[in-house]
Amino acid sequence: MFKISKVKKILMHFRTCSKFTILIIVAAILILAIMALTYKPIYSVTLNGEEIGYSANRSELQEKINEYIEKGTGEENIAFVEISNLPEYKMCLLKRDIVPNDEEIYQKVIEGGTTYYKYYAVTVDEEIKAYVSDFTKAESIVSQLKEKNSTNKDKLGIQEKYETKLEEFTEVETCVANLYEKPIEKPVVKKTTQKSYTESVKVANTTQKINLGISFIRPVSGTLTSRFGTRWGRGHKGIDIGAPKGTTIYASASGTVASTTTGWGGGYGNHLIISHGNGVQTLYGHCTTLLVKAGQKVSQGQAIATVGNTGNSYGNHLHFEVRVNGVAQNPQNYVSY
Ligand SMILES: [Zn+2]
Repeated sequence: MFKISKVKKILMHFRTCSKFTILIIVAAILILAIMALTYKPIYSVTLNGEEIGYSANRSELQEKINEYIEKGTGEENIAFVEISNLPEYKMCLLKRDIVPNDEEIYQKVIEGGTTYYKYYAVTVDEEIKAYVSDFTKAESIVSQLKEKNSTNKDKLGIQEKYETKLEEFTEVETCVANLYEKPIEKPVVKKTTQKSYTESVKVANTTQKINLGISFIRPVSGTLTSRFGTRWGRGHKGIDIGAPKGTTIYASASGTVASTTTGWGGGYGNHLIISHGNGVQTLYGHCTTLLVKAGQKVSQGQAIATVGNTGNSYGNHLHFEVRVNGVAQNPQNYVSY
């Protein structure tokens, strides 16, 4: 009997005990549910020790900030953005009605940023002469000036710049034209009777394109009326582009006017020759007026003359030649008509 009552007692105790446990569990769930409904885990954000808001998504916010540091506003030439004070996050439980303000936090953080731009400066004797957006351009300016044997070729330099201010950039062609210094030791091209000079010009017997490292533009807009090569039993040293009288003729590439000739000009009529360095020259013939003078530097696209019918010409047109070391090349290898 004794044994049975003891067992009963244990059972009774167990029942009371488990009821109590269940009660505790239920209560705990209820409390957690109320907590979960009322509170939520959120990151409080401080900047410079000052609380600036709450972030709903810390990783997303920080990622956005990191992206800004790397790329800034996405403008060209931005190297990076320096943000001296980064936000600090602290996790806390807050009432659900607290509104996170990630966007506002982001704006406050980037407000304190300093944008650094990366670009290049072309220098002569360490003195900055021009700014360009990338290294290739700077390199191109220096190599073009060296090719043209510019007097300042040994003083040229390139500086990599990281600045908070973006300088104004100069185009490669303009910069080359501005920095070019004519070699002193070389004699200035004489304004001779152009006839003897031009007659020594040979016509390349190959149509192969020589890579000149210069990009030419069309000197005039018009229609191709005569190609380069054999014509009427003799070589045609250039191409003819028909255009109305007075149409502007532009420098096909930048360079220095080697000579200007008015009159019969060996059949070329009023014409001029531009030297582009490395023995490369272009000739513009049969012009009405010449707008530049010998020795003058011209940049690509600069107006140099107007179309005409002077010299041995059969109508208003531009006779255009490309010469390499005195040998006329097919201009159509360099400009398309
Ligand atoms: Zn011609």
